[in-house]
Amino acid sequence: MNEHQSDNAKALVCNRQEDLVRQKGKNRKAVSTEKVLTVEELHVSFKTFGGEVQALRGVSFDLYKGETLAIVGESGCGKSVTANTIMGLIPQPPGRIKNGKVLFKGKDLTKLSKAGLRKIQGVDISMIFQDPMTALNPTLQIGEQLTEGYRTHHKVSKADARKKAIEMLELVGIPSPEERLKQYPHQFSGGMRQRIVIAIALICEPELLIADEPTTALDVTIQAQILELFDEIQEKTGVSIILITHDLGVVAKIADRIAVMYAGKVIEIGEKREIFYTPQHPYTKGLLNSVPRLDLKEEELQPIEGTPPDLFAPPEGCPFTARCPFAMDVCDRVYPETTQLTKDHAVNCWLQDERSKLVFT
Ligand code: SF4
Repeated sequence: MNEHQSDNAKALVCNRQEDLVRQKGKNRKAVSTEKVLTVEELHVSFKTFGGEVQALRGVSFDLYKGETLAIVGESGCGKSVTANTIMGLIPQPPGRIKNGKVLFKGKDLTKLSKAGLRKIQGVDISMIFQDPMTALNPTLQIGEQLTEGYRTHHKVSKADARKKAIEMLELVGIPSPEERLKQYPHQFSGGMRQRIVIAIALICEPELLIADEPTTALDVTIQAQILELFDEIQEKTGVSIILITHDLGVVAKIADRIAVMYAGKVIEIGEKREIFYTPQHPYTKGLLNSVPRLDLKEEELQPIEGTPPDLFAPPEGCPFTARCPFAMDVCDRVYPETTQLTKDHAVNCWLQDERSKLVFT
């Protein structure tokens, strides 16, 4: 990183995030080069009364064994649709996977039948949803909810399933697990309920865990505990995690790589330190600039002016053109190709394209 970039980067992140990025950078585990999941040119749309919403418009990324990939972006950018497509949860109709692949263990998940998907859902790939209270059944004891999926997929006895459930509650840090198995969701606090949801997601030892805004419904101290728990569990089990969030503090804490989405596309992807310290896409810079910093007054925050494009009729060129202070003629007409900046860091912006550099130098 040169001196100029370094100064700019320091100005971009809030103090707390900077600490967290440094801390995680120091402790960063060695991530395997083995791919667990490959998403290729995924196009997903939804038919509505108003027309067809093009929610995903060519999303591609890889996920490696034992890593945490955070997908970030504004509401409506396609983060959750990406997660739900991987998990096989897109209702068709009104949804339609128009193009692309989701490759997991040599299979394209978009081509699997409902029965084929059921064999994978909750076993090889699990998902944690935002609100633990709605994810749990209020009328069933925790023990039943923990063991139900495990017994269905593993054909084990009740006693063995119970033993496994106790093991899982211990793993997620719930004290007196034997007694707590008999309790109902309302007898637990919000943080404890999210721990139970995590235990349910992990009981079948999945290779991939998708966490969709897992800490949004929790207060800050519980949020920190749950994030610690994700780290611990990943170290113990080696599970790969896709974390969907709009909270850059969460990302700074646990992500290894970050994919930034905008208007149904991944517009920048890279190792966490690259995205926080040397972001290259104007939207990524805008996202980082709009986060509160301890050393700035509220009025010094820089929001991103304007709104995302209409996904009923998305623009052919760069979708950020209308909001971008650096927009050029070409931006509006042609979508920028991917520029690979480092092994991990890639961006879709004409400013980084070698051809535009020739014009401006
Ligand atoms: Fe801005 Fe053009 Fe880059 Fe899009 S491609 S972010 S409009 S400079």
